[in-house]
Amino acid sequence: MDGTDKKEKLITRREFVKFASLSVGAAAIAAAGSMTGCDTVDDPHYTPVSWDQQADVVIVGFGAAGAAAAIEARKIGASVIIIEKMSAGGGSTKMCGGIIYMGGGTAVQQAAGFTDTRDDMFNYLLAAAGDGADPDMIGLYCDTSLDLYDWLVQQEMPFKQSFLPGKYAEPPTDDGLIYSGNELQAYYRTVATPAPRGHHVQGEGSTGYQLWQYLEAAANNTGAQTLYGMAAEMLMLNAEDRVIGVKTQSGGITRYVKAARAVILCSGGFAFNKGMVRQYCPEYLPSKVRLGTQGDDGAGIRMGQKIGADVRLMNEGFTYAAAYVYDPGFVKGIYVNNKGRRFIGEDNYGEWVGEAIMSSNPVAYLIIDEKMLQDAASWAQGLVKTLAKKADSIAALATALKIPSAVFADTVELYNTFTETGDDTEFQKAPEYLARLNTPPFYGLNFSAAAVSFFTTGGLKINKKAQVLTVSGEPIAGLYAAGRNASSGVIAHNYPGSGISVGDALVFGRIAGWEAAVLPTSQKRFCRSPQNIPAAGRKA
Ligand SMILES: Cc1cc2nc3c(=O)[nH]c(=O)nc-3n(C[C@H](O)[C@H](O)[C@H](O)COP(=O)(O)OP(=O)(O)OC[C@H]3O[C@@H](n4cnc5c(N)ncnc54)[C@H](O)[C@@H]3O)c2cc1C
Repeated sequence: MDGTDKKEKLITRREFVKFASLSVGAAAIAAAGSMTGCDTVDDPHYTPVSWDQQADVVIVGFGAAGAAAAIEARKIGASVIIIEKMSAGGGSTKMCGGIIYMGGGTAVQQAAGFTDTRDDMFNYLLAAAGDGADPDMIGLYCDTSLDLYDWLVQQEMPFKQSFLPGKYAEPPTDDGLIYSGNELQAYYRTVATPAPRGHHVQGEGSTGYQLWQYLEAAANNTGAQTLYGMAAEMLMLNAEDRVIGVKTQSGGITRYVKAARAVILCSGGFAFNKGMVRQYCPEYLPSKVRLGTQGDDGAGIRMGQKIGADVRLMNEGFTYAAAYVYDPGFVKGIYVNNKGRRFIGEDNYGEWVGEAIMSSNPVAYLIIDEKMLQDAASWAQGLVKTLAKKADSIAALATALKIPSAVFADTVELYNTFTETGDDTEFQKAPEYLARLNTPPFYGLNFSAAAVSFFTTGGLKINKKAQVLTVSGEPIAGLYAAGRNASSGVIAHNYPGSGISVGDALVFGRIAGWEAAVLPTSQKRFCRSPQNIPAAGRKA
């Protein structure tokens, strides 16, 4: 729920937890165990006779968010157990492109000759994230960005001090910096002085695997213990409704892991849970390309909801389709919908294109001509020849694509006039990406909704301390979340630029690690305010 005026309708969280537990039909009676006002093992208030494992901080999920939380919690001296469902860590993080969105004047930006400020970064992100963006959280993201860069370098993550111009999903080279969002678009230039902020972990092309190797090694070096092949199933509460542990399953065996200070949920999103996608973001159902792993089944989100946590932006996600994934030169072509009309400037960030397709142009094609094809890399040429419809004229291509011929011809003619004036009055595509579509044969590559890839970005609502909030806005004692398990409001209706998901997972994973590690143990009644964490403890 995203609501602001839901308080009248709210039952207390205690009532909610009881109701949720009963309504899931928890039938199994505890074979052994003492009870604190409950009578089933599916009740979060069930207290096992003994706990199988114990640590100060228990982290669910070993991806970017979980690793960042573990590193910081260990640095403060807390003992840490990470519960990881799979036989190895990494989750989506291991598959990512290796881009992290950072700015405000990082060493890479400076070395590449760019001036960036915290305020330009903030103004861009706030405008670009769009509806639902949380200015306080975006401010925090920007305030901590330089520190995040330094922290990553301390984890031995290498970034080449160089910039690659042009449009790329991730650099095919080992360059350390690209424009990864819409900073150069005409509108956003009016909002903030543009600067590239997509920091690319060194290596050619997609470097998510390397990124993960550095994070995993850093987390393991802290002495955090990881329990692989163990799936968290339910959060456990004490009589005061504080989260005190996790019920888990591994190989059919139930184990209880106690968290003396806090649990941090870092178990990813829900792109692989069709029921949740149908419930929260049904417009993504046509997509045949889910980004992530089977671990993205929304388990962490549901665990939080079961004990009364709020969610936000559950209908939002990263939706991606970009001509430049094939070849940067294909940005010179045009996207048309089933009416034969352009619907967006082709130099937009692929997430904007994906969103435009998913929301209002479910049938779409990328149109290029033979010259654009010949200028492309050979592998891209091969893909187009295999996948695209080809015709010797614009009229014949319209017939092949089943789009209105006259409108399509007008669209191409108008576009060709922009290439002469250098002024795309329809969608303000930058002049360097305008090129005549007039060399036959012509190609139409399917960019319809089924081809748009996605992952989800909604999750448990967290505050600036990464505490999970109830629907009435209160932090749930002993519970934190980060990464795609959470929604910080940094990613909102739009996904502002590649690198923001790992960036958000790292920023709020680190904060969750600090905050959880300094909580008094659940045996104590009163908490020292996390605001009193010594500054030195907060620094990497
Ligand atoms: C192909 C691809 C490219 C991408 N490129 C980029 C990019 O370049 N930059 C960027 O910022 N983002 C990118 N993303 C998105 C980004 O990788 C993810 O959003 C981000 O890594 C999520 O991190 P996380 O820590 O929240 O989750 P994950 O890294 O997915 O980690 C979650 C972990 O929790 C585990 N888990 C799940 N359920 C349970 C359970 N019940 N109990 C225990 N463990 C559980 C999972 O097995 C997993 O290991 C990309 C994604 C993909 C798929």
